[in-house]
Amino acid sequence: MTDIKTDLFVANEWRKPAGGERFAVINPATEEAIADVALAGSSDVDAAVAAARAGLEGEAWRGLSPRKRGALLYRAGDLLEQNAEEMAKLETQQNGKPFFESKIDVAMTVETLRYYAGWADKLTGDTLPVDGPFFTYTLREPVGVVAAIVPWNFPLNLASWKFAPALAAGCTVILKPASETPLTALAMADIMVQAGFPPGAFNVLPGGGSSTGSSLVKHPGVDKIAFTGSTEVGKQIMRDAAGTVKRVTLELGGKSPNIIFADADIPAAVRGAQNGIFYGKGEVCAAGSRLLVERSVHDQVVSELVTRSKKLSPGDPFDKNTRLGAVVSQRQQETVLGYIESGKREAKLVAGGNAVKVNGKGYYVEATVFDEARPGMKIVDEEIFGPVLSVMTFDGVEEGIRLANQTIYGLAAGIWTRDIKKAHTVARAIRAGTVWINTYNFYDSAAPFGGFKASGFGRDLGREALESYTEVKTVWVAL
Ligand code: NAD
Repeated sequence: MTDIKTDLFVANEWRKPAGGERFAVINPATEEAIADVALAGSSDVDAAVAAARAGLEGEAWRGLSPRKRGALLYRAGDLLEQNAEEMAKLETQQNGKPFFESKIDVAMTVETLRYYAGWADKLTGDTLPVDGPFFTYTLREPVGVVAAIVPWNFPLNLASWKFAPALAAGCTVILKPASETPLTALAMADIMVQAGFPPGAFNVLPGGGSSTGSSLVKHPGVDKIAFTGSTEVGKQIMRDAAGTVKRVTLELGGKSPNIIFADADIPAAVRGAQNGIFYGKGEVCAAGSRLLVERSVHDQVVSELVTRSKKLSPGDPFDKNTRLGAVVSQRQQETVLGYIESGKREAKLVAGGNAVKVNGKGYYVEATVFDEARPGMKIVDEEIFGPVLSVMTFDGVEEGIRLANQTIYGLAAGIWTRDIKKAHTVARAIRAGTVWINTYNFYDSAAPFGGFKASGFGRDLGREALESYTEVKTVWVAL
């Protein structure tokens, strides 16, 4: 990894886009263009799908034993680890997140590669106790060509949540990164070649959603769409995938509740609430963006939270003391500021609320807290995807659960209490794919992650994700 890659990556070759179109990648902390990247048009999509299909059916990939597929993924993990600093630097340059966060993202990507490397030779079918003189068993076969379409908030890490299990299962992959952040996906291509993946196994097509993304979703040569992004685009993908009856898994938006009960360890809960919303600038699908506080501890929680939030000033992502970077783009900054304006009309602003520049540049937003929020307000009902927290007060367990579930989303939730019965009761009552008790925002390759309700369906990570890249075939043998 030395120079920045900016072309299309198909069949282990760097290719120019057939239509010659390119787009700029902007560093949101400096407002400077850092790369001019190829945009994949529909004929490039055709070429990539053909390469991925040829890869799927060719001996170089299909002929590899599962154990050898696993060995390639282990090698990719090792090579990524050796290039971790450089990869993290690229991630921060294109996304604006603090450098230490990018280093965590890369380390988690290495873990994901190793986790699925280990699974490659442990994916088994079953023998079935059917009636009659038969030997009946299931095989798990690769689902085929997978298009992985991912957002800009954890560009490389979220991509690995899809391409690592897909490759472990024997699929071939076309990765479409978000147009704001294609650079680490492209850098990963180099690593995959060095690791030994044959042509067509791993392809990268940068480009826009309505052009490149949509062509992949409608393409008859793609078997599955593994998508992470907004709920609106997820709905469009379901509609577009219907024409070819594609398999679809959708990891969508969230508006996750973080619930502090009066009996919680309050300083720990406040730290958890703060990290829950301000880590990753709030551009985290599982961000704890609705803070529910039991009435008797409300004043203490809000006052501690405000003190901490005011100290969290945005800074240069490469400064080691920075804990709040630049939001990903000017457009995202405008969206977040629009929500803050609406919040000022409806609730009580107690911290932050402004756009700022660092060294005269960049799309930064202060750590912002609204108190006296309630359902029906835009800042409570809609996903903001920025460093903005809405605080609501509740009385008792029942009201806490009701407020927590009063959302179209169901991605994650946090519960802070010292009462073990209450913790587990509330965990069961909440309609969300992940519940954290006395912690927040923890992830592990072994722990499935995904949504209930409008947060989507299917799971990333864990065995669940691996199985979603397979078809089950039942074989009957008369005895
Ligand atoms: P987005 O939905 O705008 O874009 C996501 C990806 O889809 C991008 O690569 C984009 O180019 C592509 N795309 C857009 N329109 C498309 C179309 N019509 N057909 C095919 N592809 C299309 O989302 P974003 O703004 O990049 O990311 C933020 C969203 O992602 C938030 O809603 C956030 O909650 C969600 N997210 C969810 C998870 C999760 O695991 N549930 C994780 C991270 C982010």
